[in-house]
Amino acid sequence: MDTENTLNEHLGTTEVIWKLSDLYTTMDDPALQTDISWCDQEACAIREAFTSTLPDICAPDLLRLVQRLEVLHTLLGRLSTFAFLNFITQVDNARAGNLYQQMQEVYSRCSREVVFFELDWNTLEREKADRLTDDPHLMRYRHYLQALRRYRPHQLSEIEEKLLLDRQPVGRNSWMTLFEKVIGELRFGEQKRTEEEILTDLYHADREVRKQAALDLTDGLQGQSHILTHIFNTLAADKMITDRLRKYGNWIGSMNLENELSDSTVETLITAVTSRYDIAQRYYRVKRRILGLDCLLDFDRYAPLPSLPSKKVNWKTCRKTVITSFAEFSPQLAEIADRFFTEKWIHAPVYPGKRGGAFAHPCVPDVHPYVLVNYTGTLRDVSTVAHELGHGVHQVLAAGQGYYNSDTPLVLAETASVFAELLVFQAQLALLSEPQEKRAFICQKLESIFATVFRQTAMNRFEKLMHEGRKSEGELSKERLSEFWLTTQREMFGDSVTMGDDYGIWWSYIPHFLSTPGYVYSYAFGELLVLALYGIYQKEGDAFVAKYIDLLSAGGSASPYELVQPFGLDLDDPNFWQQGLQVIETMLEQVEGN
Ligand SMILES: [Zn+2]
Repeated sequence: MDTENTLNEHLGTTEVIWKLSDLYTTMDDPALQTDISWCDQEACAIREAFTSTLPDICAPDLLRLVQRLEVLHTLLGRLSTFAFLNFITQVDNARAGNLYQQMQEVYSRCSREVVFFELDWNTLEREKADRLTDDPHLMRYRHYLQALRRYRPHQLSEIEEKLLLDRQPVGRNSWMTLFEKVIGELRFGEQKRTEEEILTDLYHADREVRKQAALDLTDGLQGQSHILTHIFNTLAADKMITDRLRKYGNWIGSMNLENELSDSTVETLITAVTSRYDIAQRYYRVKRRILGLDCLLDFDRYAPLPSLPSKKVNWKTCRKTVITSFAEFSPQLAEIADRFFTEKWIHAPVYPGKRGGAFAHPCVPDVHPYVLVNYTGTLRDVSTVAHELGHGVHQVLAAGQGYYNSDTPLVLAETASVFAELLVFQAQLALLSEPQEKRAFICQKLESIFATVFRQTAMNRFEKLMHEGRKSEGELSKERLSEFWLTTQREMFGDSVTMGDDYGIWWSYIPHFLSTPGYVYSYAFGELLVLALYGIYQKEGDAFVAKYIDLLSAGGSASPYELVQPFGLDLDDPNFWQQGLQVIETMLEQVEGN
């Protein structure tokens, strides 16, 4: 506790506490109970007034219904946000915990009352629904209503859906829990350490420490490989069956639908990235040289670069760096970001009982977003503050669209945050004078870009082999899965990194493959989109800024395709993705030369 207080004082974050009274004054605010009662009554009233009316509803009535639902959800959002934010900085406070739990119950109770709307809306015949969404009354909700219906062709009968829902706890979710238990309880090496501790050692400066960590991880996973292989097979089969029942044409179809992307767009992205694996390979050759090694082995990939700047940055300087770099891009963005500091929308200090990590919570459009960070003064932390403020500014701008339209499509959700990180990266880079420091700083940035672009794409290739393999070959052995893993990893690294056969088993601890099949390419999509946008900004300068602010302000009111149209971007054009890859190559050239 004392050391944390000293750290906060030293960095100047002690007073950087958010003001939740913009939502409710305290946990005792009588408005909390008044609002809960209102939500309960309104949810019930909506159900009574509109159940079974959808088949014959006219546009003005549908508008009234959607507006009432939106008001209800907004108030529920305000209540839940308060309970969540109040809890997250004091998870050891029982009263805060109770309130959070209570609010989740209020939320699901009210949602149950009005769930009829989405179900009825999706069973409405196509012509009727099209006529309604084309009606000028519903213009504002057009995209929202259409997007709700995108799952319709894949919906089963009500009784089948209900059966699947009922079986869910003993199906996919249960296998996921088993996986988490196996990995969570697994201990590695002689010192019986956790997965987290072992993975941290892969970033250690001492090569022997990294090597031992890699050996320990391999041994630990091998020891449980019979269970892990079974879990992967079962969940691949579960997906195969669900995809067949729901009539998805291929293994990635359901994820693409969720992302509002066509299969061919995703194909174009993947082909573009795999065609430029040489960028990753060239980088790891540079890294081998910097580290002075004859051969870069798989456990050397995350070795820290010598000369990385290590000076602590206090909160005041962090704020100045972020705001100045935003202002150089757009004074409007800087002004919005600065409100987070002046109006107390940020929670920054580190202390016990506060959840780790960082996030920006959009809250509800008629209040304002909140940002949480655990600030320790590293350059990485400055970048995190920029990332979360990027989200925050995006959320402020999108709030004008209202609650239902402010949620950005999933693959565009990281646009503003990653873009903000890039702006601050350039500003931080300009402040470094030592060439070695500069080079190490660029290398670190490149590695973080590789983690989203190349690594996630290689993982997508592994998933493809796994799902298609499970379908055509049946149950897959541990050896077969390891072969898929090594093949797709070696494709990416070429001869720049030597992958021992031991490394083959490393597919088996990655939770994404099980929890959200197909999702990993979304990271590559988001990062490359931002890099491409940044490339356009470098060429167009000010002309780009207004379009960028329009993009953020549009929130989720249109599809990804429509949102990027004003930039002249075509997601189906291979050249578009190459633009983003070229920005990476330019950064690479800066470290290749010296
Ligand atoms: Zn983010």
